[in-house]
Amino acid sequence: MSEKFDVIVIGGGPGGYVAAIRAAQLGLKTACIDNFIGKDGKAAPGGTCLNVGCIPSKALLDSSKHYYHLQHDYGNHGISISAVAIDVPKMIARKDGVVKKLTGGVSQLLKGNKVTFYHGNGRLGANRSVKVTPQDGGDVIALQAENVILASGSVPIEIPGIPFDGEYIVDNTGALDFDQVPATLGVIGAGVIGLELGSVWNRLGASVVLLEALADFLPLADRDISKQAAREFKKQGLDVRLGTLVKSAQLEDGKVNVTVEDANGQSQHSFDRLLVSVGRKPYTEGLLSEDSGVSLTDRGQIDVDEQSRTSAPGVWAIGDCVRGPMLAHKASEEGVAVAELIAGKPAHIHFDTVPWVVYTDPEIAWVGKSEQELEAAGASYKTGSFPFAANGRALAGGQGAGMVKILADSETDEILGVHIFGANASELIAECVVAMEFQGSSEDLARIIHAHPTLSEAIHEAALHLDGRAIHRGN
Ligand code: FAD
Ligand code: NAD
Repeated sequence: MSEKFDVIVIGGGPGGYVAAIRAAQLGLKTACIDNFIGKDGKAAPGGTCLNVGCIPSKALLDSSKHYYHLQHDYGNHGISISAVAIDVPKMIARKDGVVKKLTGGVSQLLKGNKVTFYHGNGRLGANRSVKVTPQDGGDVIALQAENVILASGSVPIEIPGIPFDGEYIVDNTGALDFDQVPATLGVIGAGVIGLELGSVWNRLGASVVLLEALADFLPLADRDISKQAAREFKKQGLDVRLGTLVKSAQLEDGKVNVTVEDANGQSQHSFDRLLVSVGRKPYTEGLLSEDSGVSLTDRGQIDVDEQSRTSAPGVWAIGDCVRGPMLAHKASEEGVAVAELIAGKPAHIHFDTVPWVVYTDPEIAWVGKSEQELEAAGASYKTGSFPFAANGRALAGGQGAGMVKILADSETDEILGVHIFGANASELIAECVVAMEFQGSSEDLARIIHAHPTLSEAIHEAALHLDGRAIHRGN
């Protein structure tokens, strides 16, 4: 006999565990199945994000930022330090502690909301039947649900001929766990992971070279922001080689020898470690039996409509395994929306206002359209900007790099996009997301009182600049 649930969620990442909690809050009998094994060998719900993604990377970004500032910035404050050292195993242990605390917290939340948790591999069969193969080797458990939510996430893309070995040629998981600072680190792909994890090890003293196939740096970001960021990262010592295609990589005598091709032809580079961060792909291995009725797209994503319905009745899919940006908050909001739809409530995701953040130093954050996107769409728009170099709080904190840029409709003045490169951009962007969600105008931002002295005044000034009335810069 199969145990029956109103909702079974397969995957316990930020998409899955949030969907399960929301479904349980709505009074639905809910189960969540997750197969992740933590470093201690136990269940660790939280998915990629909590275990080997968002959270551990931010923990190491924080540690490495302290180390870097001690060496490079404290002197400006008149603080002298004679010897600064980094204990890498201790830094990694701190990161692991943060992860453990949060994954333990998710277990408690699931329990507190009466979600039945299974630590194992879930497989969807016909008519919303689900089989769980427990990670502890126990017997297969048969379950049945009215609704199934697939939230199986994503895994790193491997370049053919350059397999991960977990030590020298690594993905994000390996690069979050080096036991010492590599003297040289090669990174294939100057995208989000390459920049964040490249920054971590660069700040700790590694010589980091990012090999990027595309000719443009960070093409998803607004072009003015990418340009400023490229300059700033170069100053920090990140060596980004654009238009560089990696042909092969071989491990020889403890070194990874990489052959690349760029405008000057082929050349060889040798690194102590190589991080491959060329994107991620949906993780659907073992998830669907042949009679599940769920279709995949030609890119391997689970095919869903606007409201996350798959081709099988009562089966939904959310997060990294479906279309849209691979971001934790997008996965979570889809999870909430699907739980609410299942409970018969109205729900809607506004994909145009999903914020993006790259946690470099300074941070990059944006919401809405970039200038190049508006240009390509033939939109009629106006722009306003403000440099942090003219913001009092930024200067007082030694954080004068970067800018805020706002794009608004020429006729209606509705905000179409906001782009920030600067300290705390990850927090500053929230105001702009709210403004856009309420279909606000640049005039709204210009008329809202911003506390002084704060970094948020740069947003205020950029909005004023858009109308030619900025106070602290020329118009
Ligand atoms: P996941 O988090 O991948 O969770 C899916 C879970 O389901 C996993 O535990 C998986 O093992 C499990 N699973 C899969 N198949 C089965 C099965 N058949 N049975 C049982 N369990 C299964 N995003 C941000 O928004 N901000 C960031 O700062 C950020 N930083 C990142 C840094 C790194 C290094 C990486 C790699 C990613 C980062 N991301 C970040 C992206 C973010 O991690 C993902 O977008 C997010 O985790 C997606 O959530 P999800 O629930 O869809 O999938
Ligand atoms: P990415 O798509 O951000 O960057 C991959 C880069 O690799 C691209 O610039 C691409 O042009 C380049 N590339 C691809 N093949 C190449 C090759 N053969 N040689 C050289 N360059 C090549 O992917 P990622 O950095 O692996 O991150 C995966 C996803 O994880 C991101 O798209 C993002 O959704 C998520 N993530 C988010 C955050 C965040 O929100 N702060 C942080 C990390 C990861």
